Amino acid sequence: MTGNRTFTMIKPDAVENGHIGAILEKITAAGFKIVAMKYTQLSKRDAEAFYAVHNERPFFGELVAFMTRGPIVSAILEKDNAVDDFRALIGATNPAEAAEGTIRKLFATSIGENAVHGSDSDENAAIEGAFHFAGREVY
Ligand code: ATP
Ligand code: MG
Repeated sequence: MTGNRTFTMIKPDAVENGHIGAILEKITAAGFKIVAMKYTQLSKRDAEAFYAVHNERPFFGELVAFMTRGPIVSAILEKDNAVDDFRALIGATNPAEAAEGTIRKLFATSIGENAVHGSDSDENAAIEGAFHFAGREVY
């Protein structure tokens, strides 16, 4: 992976609150091209594997329960400098600390229920994209 792709999820809170369309609009308006996308629900096993890096953290059980409680939208996005530019677009993990105009400032409600995921490195973007999509689902 060469640094022009990232992976995102619109999390269950944002789906429940009816923000799928508004969030996709922000993403495409910022210049990201959608190269893979699906509407799906994570199993407990999926969420535990996806967030395995956090499995010693005190909030891990809460995180897995949250991420599995309803459907999500997962997508692979393409743009120059995709990982860093997407993290800038979504804002800080805690929406109370997120910059004005960011997706989390606009649509997240708490540090736990923060509307969207964004990969934190090119390496993780490739791993996470491959976790969610078969090669033939990426365009
Ligand atoms: P993400 O990986 O979902 O894009 P992030 O990279 O901004 O978020 P991480 O540190 O990777 O933040 O944490 C992963 C997720 O775990 C957060 O998005 C949030 O849903 C949850 N989380 C992180 N810290 C806390 C916390 N202190 N309390 C509750 N949930 C938390
Ligand atoms: Mg993270």
